[in-house]
Amino acid sequence: MAPSDLIDHFDARAVFRGLLDGEDYRNRVAGSCIYRCPRCGHRIRFRWRSFYQAKGRSPFQRRLRRIFDDLTPALPADEQGCIDFHCPACQAPTRIIYSAHDYTKIAYHFDIYAVLVGAGKTQK
Ligand SMILES: [Zn+2]
Repeated sequence: MAPSDLIDHFDARAVFRGLLDGEDYRNRVAGSCIYRCPRCGHRIRFRWRSFYQAKGRSPFQRRLRRIFDDLTPALPADEQGCIDFHCPACQAPTRIIYSAHDYTKIAYHFDIYAVLVGAGKTQK
């Protein structure tokens, strides 16, 4: 089985709580939100700042990163970004994909699009 077969796509609403919907946006990060790992149930709180500071960093090795990159769509947004991490509980490689809308020169809105999650150690 190819490694990409082990990576599942989750809609933002399936794994996040605390996101906002409005007339012209969906799944917006406001203050903070709670992510629940779909592999093991571990919860992580993300703040607006987490998205602001995430740009360009990834703990993934190059090969794994490339696999995630291949599965990451181009979003219709001013900018898009992702947060890569390993679940602290089950080690599942996880990528949060979001769009960033520049609404002033110094501030952004972050709208979560989806989450890609690889296999965790405790997965059956
Ligand atoms: Zn987990």
